[in-house]
Amino acid sequence: MITDAQPVEVGGRLVEPGERRQFRYELSETYNGDAVEVPVSVITGEHDGPTVLVTAAVHGDEMNGVKILQQAASRYDPADLHGTLVCLHVLNVPGFLAQQRYLPFYDEDLNRAFPGNPSGKTSSRFADELFTTFIRECDLGIDFHTSTRHRTTMPHVRADVSDPAVERLARAFGMSVILAGAGSEGTLRTAASAAGIPTITVETGRAHRFQTDLVERALRGIDSVLGEYGVLPGEPVVWPGWTRVVAEPTEKTWIRADRGGLIDVEWGPSPLVEEGDLLFTLSDHFEEEVTEVRAPFTGIVVGVLECPLAYPGHPLCHFVRVDEETADIIRGDIERGVFDVYREGGFQWPEPRWYAKHERESDSERGGRNDERK
Ligand SMILES: [Zn+2]
Repeated sequence: MITDAQPVEVGGRLVEPGERRQFRYELSETYNGDAVEVPVSVITGEHDGPTVLVTAAVHGDEMNGVKILQQAASRYDPADLHGTLVCLHVLNVPGFLAQQRYLPFYDEDLNRAFPGNPSGKTSSRFADELFTTFIRECDLGIDFHTSTRHRTTMPHVRADVSDPAVERLARAFGMSVILAGAGSEGTLRTAASAAGIPTITVETGRAHRFQTDLVERALRGIDSVLGEYGVLPGEPVVWPGWTRVVAEPTEKTWIRADRGGLIDVEWGPSPLVEEGDLLFTLSDHFEEEVTEVRAPFTGIVVGVLECPLAYPGHPLCHFVRVDEETADIIRGDIERGVFDVYREGGFQWPEPRWYAKHERESDSERGGRNDERK
């Protein structure tokens, strides 16, 4: 074995270059005094390079990330890696076991507790242990989420793109929609980015499910990030054909019900909805009163309610403005039938086009997806 890498210490274990190590890290203890253990995979390349952290289930019922990490942990040959991949398969272990979003005591949100406090409340202690042991030892991070229950979301990245290092990572993941913002205080990505570890959140799909296509898409996003940072030299960096960075509060809105009732979804099959077009109708049981909800501007439906019932104030969809140029690209995609199965397929965003990084600027021809990708 030819190697220029040194062993790396992760979670108190020394992992040799070229090694794939999987272990359980004791994070806390239960009422019974049993260990609360985080499953960890470490794949150390035979060559030196950055350490990339991927994390899932900081919200315990968000399963797509769990499947993404299971697959990522076996996807790469240590011989090919220039650097290290660290997978923390489940962060909120008690929430995962109970299949609920928050820690199942006092409903603490682990994703508002970072970077944590070793003498604070339970969520703060969990966060502190994760942050000091793993997160701050890495060079960049990707935290996988899904929509909360009863909603679903098209795959998108959330990132503080005002930080160029974070923007580089956000773009490298290769999603068309990037929702820009510093993030709420205490989120993993906010705390890690503030500590100098550029970190993004990836939102994809719905809770309580493994959504195969979304999982595969996310794995390609990880490939792309590894390509961007030279961990997988030669791996093409994804350019998804168009990218919309949404930075202004006026560019995105949660459209809410103004009355209670039954919801019918009227938009689709594509997620592009023209200004003034019908998004939803709300009605009562006797259909005596039907209320139309229309698009306030031309945009795309990024997140949507799945339970077809509303109280006044319930969110119906997360709607993001697109400029005319982007809308035109999407209209072209619609004409080509790209979105024909969008809604029926569970709001799955179509395959991105795959370009090597150097093609990004020069190859303006559309449809240039690299079909040799697996
Ligand atoms: Zn989440």
